[in-house]
Amino acid sequence: MKPFVEIYDTTLRDGSQGEGINFSALDKLRIAEKLDAFGVHYVEGGWPGSNPKDMEFFKQASRRKWKTARIAAFSMTRRKAMAVENDDLMRQILEAETPVVTIVGKTWLLHVTEVLRAKPDENLAMIADTVRYLKDHGKRVIYDAEHAFDGYKDQAEYALATWQAAEKAGAECIVLCDTNGGSLPQEISRIVEVAKRKLTARLGIHTHNDCGLGVANGIAALEAGATHIQGTINGYGERTGNCNLTSVIPIVHLKMGLSGVPARSLTKLKELSEFVDEIANLRHDPRQPWVGQTAFAHKGGMHVHAIDRVARSYEHINPEAVGNQRRVLVSDMSGRTNILMKAAELGFKLAPDAPETRAITAEVKRRENLGYEYEAAEASLALLIRGILDHNPELLFTVDGYHVSIRSNGTASVCEATVKVRVGDQTAHTVAEGDGPVNALDSALRSALARFFPRLKQVTLTDYKVRILDGVAGTAAKTRVLITSSDGRREWGTVGVSENIITASLQALVDSIEYALMKK
Ligand SMILES: [Zn+2]
Repeated sequence: MKPFVEIYDTTLRDGSQGEGINFSALDKLRIAEKLDAFGVHYVEGGWPGSNPKDMEFFKQASRRKWKTARIAAFSMTRRKAMAVENDDLMRQILEAETPVVTIVGKTWLLHVTEVLRAKPDENLAMIADTVRYLKDHGKRVIYDAEHAFDGYKDQAEYALATWQAAEKAGAECIVLCDTNGGSLPQEISRIVEVAKRKLTARLGIHTHNDCGLGVANGIAALEAGATHIQGTINGYGERTGNCNLTSVIPIVHLKMGLSGVPARSLTKLKELSEFVDEIANLRHDPRQPWVGQTAFAHKGGMHVHAIDRVARSYEHINPEAVGNQRRVLVSDMSGRTNILMKAAELGFKLAPDAPETRAITAEVKRRENLGYEYEAAEASLALLIRGILDHNPELLFTVDGYHVSIRSNGTASVCEATVKVRVGDQTAHTVAEGDGPVNALDSALRSALARFFPRLKQVTLTDYKVRILDGVAGTAAKTRVLITSSDGRREWGTVGVSENIITASLQALVDSIEYALMKK
């Protein structure tokens, strides 16, 4: 049996500290569900009590069934000079109703005396009291040792005493954190080896990328005996980011020969990475190792020739192992594999050689060239696939025309939309006002169709994201709109692309409604 490495994702907590990253509670749920399906062991949802979004996330998360991931709430040791049971932090943690709690505490004596202004022993008591209290309340406790490496280098004995205090009080995993991201791989190995000798609990590692060593330091710790690693998808995080799990996961499997997430998930790594970027509304980094668009792109003539003969000669792994593809030989086959996988997920059975499969692959590629993106718009993809499988699917409704206008009296402005729809041989013409043009259009479209399809009353638009795509030389920039809708039971994403934001939004709205009506 291969040694087992626990993958702990903190995209939703540490990752969301990154500049330009802002997740709603719904975004967090969608990402958590994706991570759970992927097979990550822990998903840290946030800091209970820190903001209403995190509270909402934990409330929703406690009602859902999770397959592989355990949801963790993050918080810190009790305040000084206060009994643990009187500390509000503990009440908030318990209210989050997660099976796992991760507690951060001080290792570095400098921080204890200068920042906390506490006595060394009081810090030890704060760690022990907090861990024990949460254990007694049925929680599994992971202990994050802040500034573990800087603290150890400064005062080794005290640092060890803090980790031992957490272990003795019942923490099941002691995670050494390189909080400032300034350590080098050799220092990480040396200190993890010491901790390994002195502690019996599982050892974990949490690193930051300030020296460009986030992943290297995480791997150094695993090589030195840690078996739990914390990081974020795409390396999101404060300053230069956290340890990038999108690199760690394939390194653990394909380079170190250890087991982490289920092996079958590896081919979905690129998709996971793109999904999280879509939800964060960030452009996917083409140069990202393993999953970037250029990670396996070959340009040089000799290269291409050699690759043609023996792919191994210029590639460190087979790109398909992580769901990526070689770019010179963009073979029909590799594109088709992705489509087949996605189609199966959506409940369609496609034969690899069927002409429809080829037609679907070609259509997806054509649309991706136009700027469509289906990673987070599975409902639009399902409609596309269905459209090609049922050669001429009957349209449930058609939008015959629409008009959007904005009026302003100098201080306030009102948007108004009119929409004309046709269902069979009947038509409806409605007008609605809204906060913005898209909101007005959505209301008008929904009220026109609700007469024919009453169950649309349950469908609401829960999220709306807009991205301006680069114009290719000589053409105007395009707008991609991604909409998330919900019927109270589940959410689905749809996409629209146009040079005009209203047209792009309408496409995504129409797809959303079509999909709602298609489901039984
Ligand atoms: Zn951190």
